[in-house]
Amino acid sequence: MDEKIAPHLEELTRALGDIDKTGIRAEFDKLLAFHVPPEVAKETILRKFGGKRKVLKVKDLSASLKNFEIIGRILDIGEKALRPQEGVQAGPSKLYTGVLADETGSVMFSSWKELPGSVGDVINIKNAYTRLWQNRIRLSIGEQSLVSKVSDSSIPQLSELSKTSAKKLIDIGAADFSVNTVACILRLSHREVPVRGKQSKVISGVLADETARLPFTAWVELPGIDIGSIIRIEGAQIRMFRGMPSINLISSTKVSSVGVEEAEKLAFTFESAAKDPALLKIEEIASKDSMFDVVAAGNVVSVRPGSGIISRCPECSRVVLKANCRVHGKVEGVRDMRIKAVLDDGTGAMSVMFPRELAEVIYGKTLEEAEQLMFSDISKDAVYEDLRRILTGRYLAVRGNSSNGEYGVSFVAESAWVPEDDLAVRVVELLRRLGLDEEYPGSGVSRGGISLA
Ligand SMILES: [Zn+2]
Repeated sequence: MDEKIAPHLEELTRALGDIDKTGIRAEFDKLLAFHVPPEVAKETILRKFGGKRKVLKVKDLSASLKNFEIIGRILDIGEKALRPQEGVQAGPSKLYTGVLADETGSVMFSSWKELPGSVGDVINIKNAYTRLWQNRIRLSIGEQSLVSKVSDSSIPQLSELSKTSAKKLIDIGAADFSVNTVACILRLSHREVPVRGKQSKVISGVLADETARLPFTAWVELPGIDIGSIIRIEGAQIRMFRGMPSINLISSTKVSSVGVEEAEKLAFTFESAAKDPALLKIEEIASKDSMFDVVAAGNVVSVRPGSGIISRCPECSRVVLKANCRVHGKVEGVRDMRIKAVLDDGTGAMSVMFPRELAEVIYGKTLEEAEQLMFSDISKDAVYEDLRRILTGRYLAVRGNSSNGEYGVSFVAESAWVPEDDLAVRVVELLRRLGLDEEYPGSGVSRGGISLA
């Protein structure tokens, strides 16, 4: 009996995940107890529970997804033999990698088994998962995944999928491997970096359209292109850096200037794109995987442990604990100061990192002053306690970059300030809510009494 049902259980597990945990196994056993043939019982269960499985589009992919279904057309596929690693049991020795696309985008995949299709074919993958590989999202097809060829589907034809449509900057994400876009250059700088032991010229800067800003790097020269230029980019690569997509212009990327006539039809001009970013609600920031150069404001609801004076490795800048760097071993640490605070604006909360220059400003003490406090106080948490006392409840605006991960939104501030005009409005609002506006008519007196220090 067991031998008869084992393959069915295996198939159910592959299609539906852990069937013991979810109670699906119990349902299956119940059907068998009613003398339903195993084959029929399996079909019934698949019909009943299979519908609950998530079917995702390429644009929905994010890191660490498990057990979902996806349908796409193979744009590219190749195989490579893997060298057996020492000390590792002989596993699969071939890896198939390529690009899968649907109408929402394209994603790189890797498969440990041969796929039932080649370039141009549509495949359905059940029990697929994603992982991060070189900071990029990769669709993974494992031993447990079920892959079948789909002969009739609504996925656009190969020719249509191959010509990537132009994307707005806000829609560019970790799942994109190649994009086309039209944007203007907000910032641009030249520098030399060592690449494989040779000094190479690289241009880096910031691109903007009416939806967002993104950093870019060019490994090729950009003749005639400067700050203010509006350019069309075709076939740029997307690289992820600290959770943020960055547009890479490489030798195969086509970069051209957009003519005046065409530029007039765009939804942005250099002037509109160069304006300071508008204040966003934290809720909105939290709805995106990452955002570059945005502004938010809120109250500091807590200062996180790890804030205050820290020691960094002089080689790699990693935080050093007990004079020991994770990579460089015993080192003489360099003192630094940082603040990690949770900012809440009523729509959501995010963890904000203030590097030293900003930490000194919002704390009101320099690193040296904080060090004096650290050495003069018997409590080793003196600086942290002082930070909590001074910052908790403060209303701050921050401008910088956000990325959304397992632990919520982390925001790295590049500038921070107390929004004063906003403060006046908020004081009036607060007095009104407290019923004090009649007691202090005009509320100008109260406002004058507020100290920002
Ligand atoms: Zn180090």
